Amino acid sequence: MISNVCVLGAGRMGSSIARAFLDRGYPTWVFNRTAAKCAPLAALGAKVATSVEDGIRAADVVIVNVLDYAASEDLLKQDGVASALAGKAVVQLTSGSPRLALEEARWVEAHGGGYLDGAIMATPDFIGKPETALLYSGSRDIYETHKLLLFALGGATSYVGEVPGQASALDTALLTQMWGGLFGALQGMAVAEAEGIGLETFRSHLSAFKPVVDAGLFDLVDRTKASRFAGDDATLAWLGAHYSAFQHLLEACEERGLNASMPEAMDTIFRQALSQGGPGSDFALLAPLFRNGGLPRTATEQANA
Ligand code: NAP
Repeated sequence: MISNVCVLGAGRMGSSIARAFLDRGYPTWVFNRTAAKCAPLAALGAKVATSVEDGIRAADVVIVNVLDYAASEDLLKQDGVASALAGKAVVQLTSGSPRLALEEARWVEAHGGGYLDGAIMATPDFIGKPETALLYSGSRDIYETHKLLLFALGGATSYVGEVPGQASALDTALLTQMWGGLFGALQGMAVAEAEGIGLETFRSHLSAFKPVVDAGLFDLVDRTKASRFAGDDATLAWLGAHYSAFQHLLEACEERGLNASMPEAMDTIFRQALSQGGPGSDFALLAPLFRNGGLPRTATEQANA
């Protein structure tokens, strides 16, 4: 079955989404607060809805992609719109928090619609490509029924779970890991340049180091999942070895007058872990500090509790 789709929002991302549907031959309606932005899509074959309600009534699947949830509410919480949602599949692709996703799921379902929340792990130019990842959570039924349509936006589409906010939460978790890497690159570039190493050289060595970094990353996740915080034969590098190498970053900051705010924060966390777990622990011992601000209790502490 070919679904009729309506895309609410024709900003950069919404337009790219609508183009991906048009490219694959889906009958596509578009609505945008500033109607002029729909013109390029109309030229590609999109039908321009004159109101949100008309767009929703014409479609089986309603994709929402606007700036934020406040903008989404401006579109959806208008007269006539709520009643038009009955029997429709609403796919919210606007970025938001898990709490907002849950609240909107309840609101849509209260009006007889189904709700799927999505997180787009890409910029607009990647929409429609085989490697592009989108995460979905909420109604499994909508995901399964409209899988083909959803895969039109990215070949690496996946379903995270039935709790509506889980796609958004996973999006934040993955972005956090990305920001860690980007902030690390900023600090690394400052260190390299301070010592007269060109950024081209820094760049050219990133690829060779990546397999080691990736191995450490996946090992950290696996160990944390298994609560294997003590050092053992499979430990890649002891906490003490990490901390010893980390001293060179602190020295570089001091000697070269570099911004040390991030290394200082890392130093505090390192010290906290070392004071409780010792240098022979695995690096994964730091994980509980991020979960709840505390380290796992020792067997003695547990016995005395
Ligand atoms: P954008 O180009 O700035 O487009 C914003 C859209 O929101 C426009 O359609 C705009 O309508 C609409 N809008 C804003 N306020 C509104 C309101 N009060 N009522 C109705 N419509 C309103 O932004 P974008 O890059 O397409 O991003 C859209 C969403 O995709 C965001 O949630 C963003 O986080 C998410 N996203 C974007 C990227 C990216 O790389 N761009 C990546 C992943 C996720 P007007 O044209 O009338 O202003």
